[in-house]
Amino acid sequence: MSPRHSPADIAERTAVKKSNLFYQSRARRPEVERAEGIYIHGKNGERYIDGSSGAMVSNIGHSNPNVLKAMKAQMDSATFAYRLHFENAPAENLATEIANRMPEGLNKVFFVSGGSEAVESCVKFARQWAVAAGQDKRWKVISRFPSYHGSTLGALALTGYGPLKDAFAPLFKDMPKIPAPTCYQDQDNLSDEQRGLKYAEMLRDEIIAQGPETVLAFAMEPVGGASTGALVAPDSYYTRVREICDEFGVLLIMDEVMSGVGRTGTFMASEHWNVRPDLVAVSKGFAAGYAPLGAMIADENMVETVLDAGGFAHGHTYAGNPLACSAGLAVLAEIDRLDLMANTRAMGDLLMTGLNDLKDRYAFIGDVRGKGLLTAFEMVSDCETMAPLPKDLNAYDRFVEICYERKLITYSRRTHGGIDGDHFLVCPPMIVTETQVNDILNILDDSLGVFARESGL
Ligand code: PLP
Repeated sequence: MSPRHSPADIAERTAVKKSNLFYQSRARRPEVERAEGIYIHGKNGERYIDGSSGAMVSNIGHSNPNVLKAMKAQMDSATFAYRLHFENAPAENLATEIANRMPEGLNKVFFVSGGSEAVESCVKFARQWAVAAGQDKRWKVISRFPSYHGSTLGALALTGYGPLKDAFAPLFKDMPKIPAPTCYQDQDNLSDEQRGLKYAEMLRDEIIAQGPETVLAFAMEPVGGASTGALVAPDSYYTRVREICDEFGVLLIMDEVMSGVGRTGTFMASEHWNVRPDLVAVSKGFAAGYAPLGAMIADENMVETVLDAGGFAHGHTYAGNPLACSAGLAVLAEIDRLDLMANTRAMGDLLMTGLNDLKDRYAFIGDVRGKGLLTAFEMVSDCETMAPLPKDLNAYDRFVEICYERKLITYSRRTHGGIDGDHFLVCPPMIVTETQVNDILNILDDSLGVFARESGL
C-alpha cells in the first residue's frame, strides 16, 4: 500500500455515490444501527469501540437505561414549553444541580443548545456586564493560538484554528491571540513552573499591548481539545493567569465545553488548579449525546448587575428545553450513582500509562498528555526537536483510518499555521473498564505497527 494518503484519496474511498446530505466534505461513514455502552454497531453487524466518545460527547456511554427512562417520562409530559411562556422543572432543577457542584457564587445558569452558543453567550454577557458596570471601553477578548471555541461567527473570532476560520475572515472581527502553552515543544532549559509562568506572562504583555482599559476577557480551554490535543499547561500557568486577569480587571472565561462535566476526573477541569473563573461554557458531555444541550454558568453578582441594567439581550429558541434538560439531569445523576469521576481518574491513569508505554516503543510518538479521560498522543518525526511528521504522510487522517479498520474510533487533528502536529485524542466514555482500556491500547499498538510499516517510520 502506498504510504501517501491525501485527504482526496481518503474522501474518494469513503464517498457514497449520491446523497442529499452533506457535511464538511464528501467523505461518508457506515450507517449506525445501534449504540450501547462504549460500543457503536454499524448496519453491517460490525462493532466499533467509541474510543473518542464521538467528539468527546458520549461521556456516560450510549443507551444508558436510566437516562432513556427519564427522557421517555419527560416526553410523556412536555417536550417543549417556550421559556417566555412557561417555567419547566427539568431546567430549574438542572440549574440547581449545576450550581451545587460549582465554586461559591458561580451559580447562575443560562441554557443553550451547544458549545458555540455557550461561548458566544459568555462573550455577549461579559460585554453587557462591562457596559452595565460602567466599563464600556472593554470589548476585546484575548484567546490562544491554537485553540477551538466553536464555529459560529462570534465564537470563530476566538477560535485559533485556521482550517475552520481562514475562509471567513472578513465576516468577523478577529480577536487578539497569545500562544497556547505548548511547552512540550519548547527547546529551553526552563523548569515546568518557569515555563508555565513564561506563557502566562504572554497574557500580561498582550493586555498591556492592547490597552488594559479595552480588554474585556481572556478565554481559554483549561485542558485543550480538538485543536491542541488535550493540551495541559504546567500548574503555575493557571494561578498566574487568574492573578493577571485580576490585576487588570479582565474577566476569565473558561471554555469547558469539552473538559467539563467530569471528563477530566473533576466536575470542571479548572478545579484541578483551584482557579475560579468568572464565566464558564459547557456542552458536549453535559447531556452526553442524549440531547443537544449547553450552558453559560455565570457569577451571581454579575448576573444581578446585568439584570438590574435591563436584562441580558440574548437567547435562543430551544434554551432550557425540558427534554434536553431532563437528559442533562439524568446524566448528572448517573455520573454520581456510578461514581464516574473516580472511574475517570483511575481509567485515565491506566490509559496514560499505556500510552506512555506505546511512546517508549514507537519512536515517532513525541508526546502523551491530558487529564483524566481527556488524553492524547502526538506523532513527530524527531522526539528531540519535536519536528512534525511530513505533511504528505497525512498521519492525522491515515492513522484514524487504520484504527477505524480495526474497529476503534479515535479523533485527530493536524494543527495548522504556526504549530504543526498530528495528534490523536483517545477519550473513551467515562464508564470504560480496565479490560476495555486494554482493548483500546492493544488496537492502538497494532495500528501504530501498521502505520509505522507503511510509512517507513
Ligand atoms: N469549545 C470547545 C472547547 C470545543 O471543543 C467545542 C467543540 O468541539 C466548541 C467550543 C464548540 O462546540 P459545538 O461544536 O457544540 O458548537
